[in-house]
Amino acid sequence: MTKIAAIVVAAGRGTRVAGAGRPKQYIDISGEMLLTRTLRPLLEHPRIDRCLVVVHRDNVALYEAAATALPRPGCEKLMPPALGGETRQQSVEAGLAALTDNPPDLVLIHDAARPFVTGAQLDALIGELEKTGASILASPLADTVKRALPQSQSIETTISRERLWRAETPQGFHFEDIRRAHAAARNSGRTDFTDDASIAEWAGMTVTLVDSGGGNTKITTAEDVAMAERHFATQAAMETCVGQGFDVHRFTDGDHVWLCGVKIAHSRGVEAHSDGDVALHALTDAILGAIGDGDIGIHFKNTDPRWRGASSDQFLLDAKRRVENCGGKIRHVDVTILAEAPKIGPHRQAMIDRLSALLDLPAHRIGLKATTTEGMGFTGRREGLAAMATATVVLPDVR
Ligand code: MG
Repeated sequence: MTKIAAIVVAAGRGTRVAGAGRPKQYIDISGEMLLTRTLRPLLEHPRIDRCLVVVHRDNVALYEAAATALPRPGCEKLMPPALGGETRQQSVEAGLAALTDNPPDLVLIHDAARPFVTGAQLDALIGELEKTGASILASPLADTVKRALPQSQSIETTISRERLWRAETPQGFHFEDIRRAHAAARNSGRTDFTDDASIAEWAGMTVTLVDSGGGNTKITTAEDVAMAERHFATQAAMETCVGQGFDVHRFTDGDHVWLCGVKIAHSRGVEAHSDGDVALHALTDAILGAIGDGDIGIHFKNTDPRWRGASSDQFLLDAKRRVENCGGKIRHVDVTILAEAPKIGPHRQAMIDRLSALLDLPAHRIGLKATTTEGMGFTGRREGLAAMATATVVLPDVR
């Protein structure tokens, strides 16, 4: 398995936005330090093995306070901090040096002031990085860009925004490549690079852009701090609800069954008004259960000709829409299929991929298991298929 480490650059001394007399990465954002909030999604990501923070030597105590607030488990991935240098470039190099004893294959370099990066954005970045060896999160520029005249606020020209992107972090690289590029930049006397992609470009590497889809904002102004406060305060006011669902369909003549939206060849079919996908039916009921909104039979009557032979995808998507209409979000699902046959193993990845696409959830937030019932009961006698599911949903608790 590819070893992936993350470096968080937190050695800056900028107190411009803080007003609290401490660097901005240590200011309180709705009850938690900015650095703590930035570390969370990295430590929670299953593909990231280690995380190292580069701090200023005068701020080690503040760093310790930020690290202590991290959840366990998760914080065991956190390495002892490295001490930064005068510039961002030197601080990143100090972080890279601290990883050389046990070097990772890939390294993600991230700014301490970007607390909003999501698991899905990290998935996308790591996926691309594994293909290309050098990739960064970025957003296509939406604003029209003007260049001012020297020493003036008058417009000299309008720059076409075509092909212009705003660079974000994390920025990911093959560890040895970026370490060599940093060393070469230092040896050549260059100290003015503002991100690691520009060092990689300077060293002749090809760096690809991964569209973050927005939201991965860097906290730089007082307005950004206020926005982050609102964001995390709203998140804190969410409550977590869990729903469960169960479904059964009887076998009948046929040559396939549907499970988790995947068509599987089988010596039997199932009796059903719809396509009879027990896994999606159980999961739909689990989601409806979490928001207290009836069940699949109430919303999709099995006497309604519209749902005859219907693909069960639409029942699941309807339940997802109902969650979103409440201002909520599905965070995790877990499905268990009970059957002697067909075998689930060969289709497991296709099922996870289908659920991931339907629910817009990364694969690490999807549980999928199958069991026989050891020849006992109706599934054991091969009379039909059954599935159980749970769904975890966050909802605004002001409902
Ligand atoms: Mg059903």
